[in-house]
Amino acid sequence: MSGNTTRLQAIDQITNQETTPVEKPERLCKIWASDVFSLSRMENSLSKKAFKSIKKTAQTGEKLDPATADAVAAAMKEWATSKGAKFFSHIFYPMTNATAEKHDGFIITNSDGGAITEFTGSLLIKGEPDGSSFPNGSIRMTNAARGYTAWDPTSPAYIMQTDNGATLMIPSVFMSWTGEALDKKIPLLRSNDAMNKAAQKVLSLMGETDIAPLNSSCGAEQEYFLVDSNFANNRPDLLLAGRTLFGAPPAKGQEFDDHYFGAIPARVQVFMQDFEDQLYKLGIPAKTHHNEVAPGQFEIAPYFEAANVAADHQQLLMTLLKSTAKKHGFMCLLHEKPFAGINGSGKHVNWSVGNATQGNLLDPGETPHDNLNFLLFCGAVIRGVHLFGPLLRAAIASSANDHRLGANEAPPAILSVYLGDQLERVFNDIKEGNLNEAAGGGIMDLGLSQILNFARDSGDRNRTSPFAFTGNRFEFRAVGSSQSVSGPLVAMNTMLADSLEWIAGKLEGHLNDGKEQAAAVIAVLKELINDHGNVVFGGDGYSTEWHKMAVEERGLKNIPTTADALPAFQEASVQKLFADTGVLSAVELESRYEVYAEQYILSIEVEAKLVIDMAKTSIYPAAMQYLTELAVANTTMQDLEIEMDKSTITAVASAANAMIAAVAKLGDALAQHDFESTEAQMQFCANDIRSLMEEVRTHADLLETEVADDLWPLPKYREMLFLK
Ligand code: ADP
Ligand code: MG
Repeated sequence: MSGNTTRLQAIDQITNQETTPVEKPERLCKIWASDVFSLSRMENSLSKKAFKSIKKTAQTGEKLDPATADAVAAAMKEWATSKGAKFFSHIFYPMTNATAEKHDGFIITNSDGGAITEFTGSLLIKGEPDGSSFPNGSIRMTNAARGYTAWDPTSPAYIMQTDNGATLMIPSVFMSWTGEALDKKIPLLRSNDAMNKAAQKVLSLMGETDIAPLNSSCGAEQEYFLVDSNFANNRPDLLLAGRTLFGAPPAKGQEFDDHYFGAIPARVQVFMQDFEDQLYKLGIPAKTHHNEVAPGQFEIAPYFEAANVAADHQQLLMTLLKSTAKKHGFMCLLHEKPFAGINGSGKHVNWSVGNATQGNLLDPGETPHDNLNFLLFCGAVIRGVHLFGPLLRAAIASSANDHRLGANEAPPAILSVYLGDQLERVFNDIKEGNLNEAAGGGIMDLGLSQILNFARDSGDRNRTSPFAFTGNRFEFRAVGSSQSVSGPLVAMNTMLADSLEWIAGKLEGHLNDGKEQAAAVIAVLKELINDHGNVVFGGDGYSTEWHKMAVEERGLKNIPTTADALPAFQEASVQKLFADTGVLSAVELESRYEVYAEQYILSIEVEAKLVIDMAKTSIYPAAMQYLTELAVANTTMQDLEIEMDKSTITAVASAANAMIAAVAKLGDALAQHDFESTEAQMQFCANDIRSLMEEVRTHADLLETEVADDLWPLPKYREMLFLK
């Protein structure tokens, strides 16, 4: 088949292309972390003293002395240049979901005109990109729009290989001239500290004497779509908005015709192998599997790591997904809902907290003592989600994720906690007083050994819950596929810090009143579950009954859009949470609200402009051309004295007219700039603009089903989704 539209040419190109055979994979031990300036690499190149000092910093975040920084910088430069790097870059994570970098050369010239390389501790520690190029919300920087990047020694530096050569990447924080956090890393580090402090209090009250610093862990499962570049390049909406703004649903039975496109899956395998090898070189412990849910959709889940490192690795993974896909002739779609009516993509954030001495505190463990710690930490999470559900919802809010949450394949926009039958029963028993001090040791032991049996038996998963306990961790399943995991991690760590502080206070009170430890724990948990048990839900989260029950009987909030969600950042309870824990100052929090709101509005405006543009310059002309062809056919038929059936002409003409009328309305709506508040503008985007975009789309999608296939300019769903 060959045709005139670029769409048909793309089909031609794809069906005729040859596939590169899968290469023999490189040996893992040969490539693992070969591009990472790891601790073992430092050990080989630093003095014993310097290594001891940097190791402590890397593991605990303790401040580094200038002499060690110089030694590390020298070793780092030596290693990086030996791997061909001519540049170094502080890599940082602004308040958008993006990754930012500013490259500097190692090279300087000396007085003889020769070139030498230089990299000192101070260059390693501090960089200075232009702060004004990044969103800063309400943080108005005095004097200068300066921003500083500072090396984060707890996340290893690495070499990024691109076609332009190799660059030494230095994970960094990003702050304003006045010291405010302008990024996603600083709050994450602070939230971890806050959680650690509060957890230490609880653990010492529990009689633990040897308590190593606690860290949060994160294992993120990333879903994504691959679309052939030949198609993607013919879809302005995919190129600029990451999702299809038009597209009729594929007809049943012919939508994913692998016979037509048989060669493709092999290309995906080649892509995946290349991608995984790159991840391994960067020390990202990846495992990939195909996702059966939607055609052309896949998933990759690295093993969990310390949250700060996992967050950096997640950003890197998203960057590499895109660049590697491009190299293999694909566009990687990280958007939460690239195709209407087809399952979207999420990022399940698996999260736990633990340390070297007590282990994973969300693991029920094997002794009653572990169980008590576990129950307290688990209770703390329940309380946190109940009190700060709207914050968690705000932390995952984006115009893209709004399309997915509450749809059929994704958790609803109501935050509840799934515990699993057995654990739910334990908390119920505590609530009912069946597992209490009065019952004495007997029943208590029984109850707790019940958890023991439960320990790793997490087979039964509730896929409809946004926040599920999965055996030794919680899985936040409502996070969007394109989002940074930092926001959700900050929200989780911070709410946990707050709950652990509350628990420590209560526990101390009961212990001071002379209660036995176990009785004190049960008393605290009883109060906790009485006040916050409403957030625990084990049923079908997708059902309409739950939507009704959650709001009317449980007092939980259903927060469908980002416009409804973001104001949570301005709530007094949330401001207090962040201020008390020291994670975000009032100014930092407000600036986040402003940046996220602005991004929300901007992304909907961009989409609306694209809708207008594509409807006018590509869909309408196709409809008119088809009408012209039909008119010619009509004349021919008249010559033959055959009456033409006018239903198609009428359908095309009226859909085209209706589409253009809707485009005009959308244009008028976009011209509106007079809003009382940011919130009002967000609501206008969520309701008016979005529904007008939908209106244009309805007519356009109808046209797609009427207009002759060879005239249709945009690659169709059945074509873009063929990959399996
Ligand atoms: P699923 O059944 O949800 O697909 P997977 O095993 O594929 O589960 O992925 C789960 C993710 O959770 C992985 O990234 C895994 O490393 C991570 N994970 C496992 N245990 C923990 C833990 N204790 N804390 C945080 N993440 C964890
Ligand atoms: Mg999962």
